[in-house]
Amino acid sequence: MPIRNIPVIPTPYYQYDLGLLDNTLALASSGSSRYGFHIHYALKANYDPRILSGIREAGFGVDCVSLNEVQYALAGGFEPSTIVFAGVGKSDLEIEEALLSGILCLNIESVEELEVVGMIAARLQVKAPVVLRVNPDLPAMTHPHITTGLKVNKFGIAVARLQEALVRCKNQPWLNFLGLHFHIGSQISSQQPFEALCQAANRIWHDFDISGHGATMINLGGGLGIDYLDPVNNPIPDFEGFFKLFHDKLDLPGEISRHFELGRSLTGQCGALVTRVLYVKKGAGKRHVIVDAGMTELIRPALYGAIHLIENITTIDGAEMYDVVGPICESSDCFGKDIILPYTFRGDLLKIYSCGAYAESMSMNYNLRGTIGKVYLEGHSKSSAKVIPMTGLQRFSAVR
Ligand SMILES: *Cc1c(COP(=O)(O)O)cnc(C)c1O
Repeated sequence: MPIRNIPVIPTPYYQYDLGLLDNTLALASSGSSRYGFHIHYALKANYDPRILSGIREAGFGVDCVSLNEVQYALAGGFEPSTIVFAGVGKSDLEIEEALLSGILCLNIESVEELEVVGMIAARLQVKAPVVLRVNPDLPAMTHPHITTGLKVNKFGIAVARLQEALVRCKNQPWLNFLGLHFHIGSQISSQQPFEALCQAANRIWHDFDISGHGATMINLGGGLGIDYLDPVNNPIPDFEGFFKLFHDKLDLPGEISRHFELGRSLTGQCGALVTRVLYVKKGAGKRHVIVDAGMTELIRPALYGAIHLIENITTIDGAEMYDVVGPICESSDCFGKDIILPYTFRGDLLKIYSCGAYAESMSMNYNLRGTIGKVYLEGHSKSSAKVIPMTGLQRFSAVR
């Protein structure tokens, strides 16, 4: 039988497992809908159109951080009433267009922004639906670059200025205050920061009489982490435990709708980056495996010191210690230091796991790299790529 629908593509490429995506979305959906919670997918994690269709079909809304993202979500068929818009630096144009688009709310990150939104809403004669993002000054116990809820971070309104913001909402007839927003960080891998978030939200809600100001919603943000060390055995995060924690620990009036903005936890494990070994270079005390993907396709290791599981999918023979590096002219262009792989040779394919979030969406054109291809795995298919062979190859086998 002829093999059909198998693209012949060059490496490196992203590989998206749509079956795993569907299973992940189903569990997130059942975990949240049990309590009537709403999920808005953080589009910045991955805006691949097929992933986004899955998100839409699962019934989730979208969390955007730029006007382009808002417009992309609208073009992708999401209802305006399911879209929220955050970001510390919304431009006047972004605010104006967002107000006219009829989205659910703007998440306001400073008193200064609130003032500008009020002025623009008054000029347009449009009521601005605003949610105040509060900075609760809480440690998320994750990498400093992805901690967002400490008072030294640029995000959110300091608790010390919340009263001023509430008064401004009350006095500006074009501002329609809807509630509070929190997002304390990303890749949070224990329950403790989320428990602390619930306590802070309860305290702030009661101390500032948020219900008395007419609030109807609270948004607890995202941040649920994934297992980068063992993605094979642990491909889906514990959504049930995550939502149960908020159900148990939030102490707010029942009619206040609860919203979450999950990014990484929904798409992170469904993606991989497949890359080919160009050279195995022996230097002083080191063996460098130089691959054809770089920080331009996956910047997390260079940016956050992130760890991704790397597997040689061509061979399983032997064991040797290597540094796996990309071709980019930066020393931080390194995917793994002192990792154990089978004896690895030019032409072997390596699979870098957990690249479904903050990989393709953070890719860049440094070194004029251009964009790379992608492959979708559907249902139970194990492999759908036939990789273009390379020159002078001593050893090569197709994707397994
Ligand atoms: C990035 C972001 C999220 C999503 O974070 P994850 O860690 O991917 O779940 C949610 N809310 C806001 C405001 C964000 O900026």
